[in-house]
Amino acid sequence: MTGFFPDDPASLEFSAEQMQELGDAALRRVIEHIASLPQQPACGQVQAEEFCRSLREPPPMEPAPLEPLLDLLFRECIPRSYTAAAPGYMAFIPGGGVFPAALADLISDSANRYTGIWSVAPALVQLEANVLEWFRDWMQFPPEARGLLTSGGSMAAFNAVLCAREKLLGTEIRRGTMYASSQVHHSVLKSARLAGIFPDRIRTIPVDGQFRMRPDRLEEAIRQDLEAGWKPFLAISSAGTTNTGAIDPLEEIAAISAQHGLWHHVDGAYGAFFHACEELRPLLRGLPLADSLTLDPHKGLFLPYGTGALLVRDGAALRATHATFADYLPPMPPGEEFYDPSRHGPDLSRGFPGLRVWLCIKLFGARRIQAAIAEKRQLALYAADRLGSTPGIVLAAPPRLSLFAFYLSRPGATKEWENQATRRLMDQVIARGKIMLSGCRVDDRYLARICVLSFRNRREQIELCVQQIREESEKILS
Ligand SMILES: *Cc1c(COP(=O)(O)O)cnc(C)c1O
Repeated sequence: MTGFFPDDPASLEFSAEQMQELGDAALRRVIEHIASLPQQPACGQVQAEEFCRSLREPPPMEPAPLEPLLDLLFRECIPRSYTAAAPGYMAFIPGGGVFPAALADLISDSANRYTGIWSVAPALVQLEANVLEWFRDWMQFPPEARGLLTSGGSMAAFNAVLCAREKLLGTEIRRGTMYASSQVHHSVLKSARLAGIFPDRIRTIPVDGQFRMRPDRLEEAIRQDLEAGWKPFLAISSAGTTNTGAIDPLEEIAAISAQHGLWHHVDGAYGAFFHACEELRPLLRGLPLADSLTLDPHKGLFLPYGTGALLVRDGAALRATHATFADYLPPMPPGEEFYDPSRHGPDLSRGFPGLRVWLCIKLFGARRIQAAIAEKRQLALYAADRLGSTPGIVLAAPPRLSLFAFYLSRPGATKEWENQATRRLMDQVIARGKIMLSGCRVDDRYLARICVLSFRNRREQIELCVQQIREESEKILS
């Protein structure tokens, strides 16, 4: 590496040849890595305390060549992880991470334009506005809806709670009460806390036998709080829970919210993009009625981690929450025609999250992406069908979208036996190295779950997953 950098000791610039060389080296590793994914264990060795200690070092004062750094990353660090990008990964909510997003990140990081304010890079910001408009169309939100690309679903929910709070409570934050089911994602409660709504103002609504919020119990809780002098302001429902894939009765919750003047936020971090497929919209009936909606492109749109999204029906309410002004800033766009990210969210300076979404949708075309989303559901239905007819396997929650939960049982089994056997089943499947699953606990029952949402989850992996679960459950039952 001696001689790689210019003699000027403060220069951080590279020559064209150097950039080509560095870029080629990195891209070569990336392509090798992606090509090797089917052979990699679906869960790498994550017992890595000693290795992590060995990584600690003081700030490096001298330059290092790229190749050994890439070796460290690709040979040592990346393999020590859950292989979330692997085709057999069906744990948690997989997303995969389509390749063109990485190219978009390279371009946006290299161009490094300022996209917080429309007038500074109007054409680039317009591409991000397009993406939000596409989402708005797919979710059938009205034209005045506005949104925001965020780092993930958690930040989308945070902004939604904040917006609802500003609009409905103003300074009376502590009078406000919020409602969510016992199956709501834990990040939603954290987002509420960030937005100043503490656990003592959050009412947990019970679910029915299929893990869906009970609207009668929601209504009852709202009435009780009204009588007690609280100000019910926000109901949060799930368009696909992470535990079992349950879809709350969105239409009924929307009606109850409207009747009592509550803001209805729908958490679609897992499920919202199924609404992009017209034929699947009946599964999510009522979703377009939401006051706000979390979407997670890094799940249902197959993007790499780092992209969430929020849509808010009343775009003006989102602006009222975030718009500020400083006279040193460039002018804001006139009227409402053009979208100004910094007036719709908390960030001023920001990366350019819109490009990775825009480039992927343009490059693949929406039709192909919709086909991939619909395929994931078909594969989950197929897997559930095969497993449901397997002796000993009980579907606790059949798939509505592309996620389902099950457990192992046998005649006369206690719940303890079922819980332990289900855990063992999962561990044994994971130990075989090709399929990665995760479980959850609902009340006192442990459930194994399969979530088909990586673009790399194809028929082949589903067959393997079903086969291995069948073989391992046979072993446990015999
Ligand atoms: C993943 C998930 C979240 C949280 O989103 P992040 O992108 O991880 O911040 C919220 N709700 C549901 C239903 C999820 O699946």
